[in-house]
Order: sequence, then C-alpha cells, then structure tokens
Amino acid sequence: MSMFKDIPVEVGVIYEGERIRRNDMQVELGGPTVKQKFELAKVKPMDEVEDGKITIVGPDLKDLKEGGAYPFGILVEAAGAKLDAGLEGVIERRIHGYLNYIEGFMHLNQRYDIWMRLGKKSFAKGLNSFEPIGKVLYRLFKSELPIIEKIQITFITDTAKLAEMTPEAMQAYESRDAKARGLKDSEVDTFYGCVLCQSFAPSHVCVITPQRYSNCGAISWFDGKASASIDPKGPVFAIPRGEIINEEKGEFSGVNEAAKKRTMGEVNQVWLYTAFDHPHTSCGCFEAVAFYIPEVDGLGVVQRSFKGAAVNGLPFSTLADSTAGGRQIDGFHGMSIEYMRSQKFFAADGGWNRIVWVPKEVKERVKEFIPRDVVDKIATEEDAKNVDELKAFLKAKNHPVVARWEAEAAPVAEAQAVQVTEEQAATTMMPVATAASLPIMAGGFKIILKDAKIYASKVIIQAKTDEKR
Ligand code: ZN
Repeated sequence: MSMFKDIPVEVGVIYEGERIRRNDMQVELGGPTVKQKFELAKVKPMDEVEDGKITIVGPDLKDLKEGGAYPFGILVEAAGAKLDAGLEGVIERRIHGYLNYIEGFMHLNQRYDIWMRLGKKSFAKGLNSFEPIGKVLYRLFKSELPIIEKIQITFITDTAKLAEMTPEAMQAYESRDAKARGLKDSEVDTFYGCVLCQSFAPSHVCVITPQRYSNCGAISWFDGKASASIDPKGPVFAIPRGEIINEEKGEFSGVNEAAKKRTMGEVNQVWLYTAFDHPHTSCGCFEAVAFYIPEVDGLGVVQRSFKGAAVNGLPFSTLADSTAGGRQIDGFHGMSIEYMRSQKFFAADGGWNRIVWVPKEVKERVKEFIPRDVVDKIATEEDAKNVDELKAFLKAKNHPVVARWEAEAAPVAEAQAVQVTEEQAATTMMPVATAASLPIMAGGFKIILKDAKIYASKVIIQAKTDEKR
C-alpha cells in the first residue's frame, strides 16, 4: 500500500494471520508473563486531541533488550463530531486487526489480555520504534473509520505510568460492560456477527447478542450495533435473528444461516446457550474456556491468565488448543468473562447450577451474578485441585449436580437386575463386543464391565461429538 511508503516494513492484509515464534521474536509486549498490560480507546472532546500525535512514555523498542517480555499499554484517543463514548469499544477492537497488518508484528487478544510480538527480521529492517507503528495505526484508523476526525496514540512501557493507568483501564472496561447489561435477547430482532478472528480461525463467526458478549469479551451487542452502522463493510455485521427454533438452547434461524454463509458451510447449526452438541464455535482469543468434567457431570471454567493446571489436570493452553480454531467441540466452549454475568450463561445446561469449578480470581469478579444458593457450592483451586477432591467437595456442599448423579445412578441399578442368559440373548441378538474389561461412560459415570459380552438387536454408531449428555 502506497500510504505506507515511509514505513520500514510492508503493511497489508496478507500479514494478518502471521505468527511469530519465541525464537524469532525481538521483543514481547504484554503476554502471559507480564502483569501490567492493556489497550484502551477513549473518545475525547475535539480540543483535547492533537491529530496525528504519537507519544512514547518509557523506553522505545530499540531500547528494549532482545528476547525480553515487557509491560505495555496502548492508549488511543479519538475525537469527531459524530463520535461518542459508545464507540470506544469499536475503536479499541480495531487495534488488533490493524497491528496485525504490519509485517513481522503479531497482536493477540484484547483489553487486559494483550500479547504482542515484534519479529527480529522486521526489527532489522528498521522497525525499531513505536513511531512507525503509531503511524500505521493512525493512517488505518483515519482511512477505515472516517467518523474519526482526530486521533492521537500513546505507547507506554514506563512501569510507573502503567501502574497508574492499568486500574483506570479496568474501570473503563467495567463501566462499558455495565452499560450493556440489562437488555435481553428476546427484546431485539437483530444480533451481530464478527469475523475479526477468521484470519486465525477460518470457520469462526462470533455471534453477539445482548446476553452473549463476543468470545474475546471486547464487543457487546451495543458495540456490534455501532460498528455495523459506522462501517457496514467491516468485520462486524448485522444478523437478522429470524425464527426462534429452540428457545431453551438458543437456536435461531438467522444465526444458523449467518454461520453457514460466513463459514462456507463448515458450521450450520449454533446453539447459543449451551456447551453441548452444537455449541458456539471458539476462535483463539476467548478470555476463558468452559470444559465438561464427566466424572461429576458438571462444567469447569478456567481463564487465560490462570497459572497451573485446572481441576481436570490440564492447563488453560491445552484446553484452549482442544477447542480453538473455529471448531464446535461438544462440552468445550471458549467464551468471555462477561458471559458469566449473563442470565443466559449456559442456561440450557442448568446455568450456574451446572458450574462446579472456577478459579478464585474469576469467581470473585463475577460473584454478584452467581445465584446466592449455589455460590458457596462452586469450588475454586483452593477447594479442589483434582477431580477426586472436587467430587468430595461437591458432595459435602450438596451442589445441584449431586442430584444429577443420583438421578442417573438409579436406572443403572435397575439394568443390573435384568438377567439375560447368553443363550437367550444369542437367539435374538448378535454379540457386538466382547472384552475382559470394558469401560463405558454414561451420564457422567464410568461403568466398567468385567468379562462382558454385549448383545444388541441394532447397532447405532454416532460421531463422537454427539456422545456427551
Ligand atoms: Zn476471537
């Protein structure tokens, strides 16, 4: 693009999905090893913004030691006659796409989870200052969102300044989210879709409704609406809700159609309020992942910043890898933290009554949205470090899932009472499996059959994705 002639590296859409490995990186900004990090957009009065001004507070890229990871903040301040604070979320979310246009620069996640890397090659080509990076952002913002009349950008690596600004940023996110609470899915006829993550997850369409934030936690239904109206050809678009196919599961004809169209037929059916069967797809930038724990027939949640293993023995990264990439994985669900504050949070699965384990940090953040009668029955890493401890905790607290264990145990006991001799069975049915020890998972229970021969009059083989629940 000719508008980037003076930038030392290439800038364009083709660099969007580019990953930079640890060995190839000059520096890391934010990311999992760093505590202070944020990106924030603010809409300001016209006279408070100096158009095109780029400020660097703290050491510049060339002064940062090769291979290091640094605390980092980006502040984008915009002004325009038609701009209001309702557009801050939209402006902020564009930082991700625009920075990824830069050759040898990677931007992941959003808000307080940002993770960036600058590649060694691009650094050697002369991309050794935040100045040209700011210029790229400035020019893309001005050309793609003409509603912005003035914009100034600040890069912060100074730790004192970051310590001062991080709480302010957290406060801004919270007040933005609070504003979006209250409206219900049933009160609108338009949802919004986002394909911002398709460069990393090609079959992913985020469906954003009043009661379901984007997976990244950075786009509310109001942000979706604002984005689609100021930039209809952009990554966020309107989805006419269409017919309600299943109110409980959250299936809407318009959502199915949009998913089908935007994923080229890869995803045809999406249920918005459940983690099972046809859950919402997971991109790669989700704030947390919900995972089914068959041993207790409940769902655990673990957030991106959680250190160590979740209660099922797997760290966030492994759980994220097994659900990411735009796939629908039965029992796994990448999601925002804000979704946990929604009345539709896994509503079809029992909502909070089905949640059994959440790290303390997240539980504290969403506590006031957890029904009072269950809040103390949900374990954190302090209550349970593995599934056995979890089981004991849930039982001791009489968590609602315990009733499910009993309900499901009953038919199994009955089945044992029915005795069929081998000859009787053989005359009408055919043996389909013979094993010395055969484990079967059913409704959260593991049943082990010893020296079993199983007979069936009909064998139905289903894809593994349909097996749970
Ligand atoms: Zn995403």
